[in-house]
Amino acid sequence: MRRRAAAWALAWALGGAAAVAAAQDALPVLPQARPAPGGVALIDLGPGADRPQARLGDVPLLVLGSPGGWTALVGIALDRAPGPVQLSVQRGAAPAAMLGFEIQPWRYGEQRLKVAPKHVDLSPDDLARHQRERAHQAEVIAGFSDPPRAGLRMQPPVPGVRSGSFGLRRVFNGQPRSPHSGMDIAAAAGTPVVAPLAGRVADTGDYFFNGQTVWIDHGGGLLSMLCHLSRVDVRPGDWLAAGEAVGAVGATGRVTGPHLHWSVSLNRVMVDPALFLAPE
Ligand code: ZN
Repeated sequence: MRRRAAAWALAWALGGAAAVAAAQDALPVLPQARPAPGGVALIDLGPGADRPQARLGDVPLLVLGSPGGWTALVGIALDRAPGPVQLSVQRGAAPAAMLGFEIQPWRYGEQRLKVAPKHVDLSPDDLARHQRERAHQAEVIAGFSDPPRAGLRMQPPVPGVRSGSFGLRRVFNGQPRSPHSGMDIAAAAGTPVVAPLAGRVADTGDYFFNGQTVWIDHGGGLLSMLCHLSRVDVRPGDWLAAGEAVGAVGATGRVTGPHLHWSVSLNRVMVDPALFLAPE
């Protein structure tokens, strides 16, 4: 597995230029657009010889396309208010220009869950641990490596029924908490979990809420997080092809039973993974 991953990384490095040339002839497969909280806005930047640089505030955005036409992908935070927003777009040496779009309203439902009390009323030690882990996660999702070279169509990391619970306001044991920022997929403990898209393992760990977790950096500020695993079979730095195993479904962390939690982060905010799957 490790040797296979290394060979793939070498092919990536050697084949890079040819792959980029081929990719520039084809339109990239983009996620479905949903310019709303928890969604992704696709902003047309027009043609240009070089890839423009786009930012939302200080945060760099993923820009895909070719000299015939570039698109900025903007992940919109679940807690962002609807209304107008401005990107800055820089082309070559020209001064940055502002480009506006409108975040649309979107309604999410509510989910009531019962979990072990220690996972809702945190002890001082657990709270300190969670705060450390949250700071670490903020570093992981701030990664901005080279943009993906292929399209962004992802495969589900496990087969199974998808909950469609992204964005639900959650009430644990009667207490409101942050909304659900990923997709839950029902699967038996031990079911292999695979990379939804090619990338490099950015982080692995065993976290208070998320349990055993693998982060995959797909490039350009797009990452996947796979949680509650019973087993992790990869290490930070490993290169993964789409569909390559990273571990197995489990019930570690704050869970009501074995399942896979899959989050997708784009420009440092969690967006709905369903937007990256083939439309149903
Ligand atoms: Zn979940």
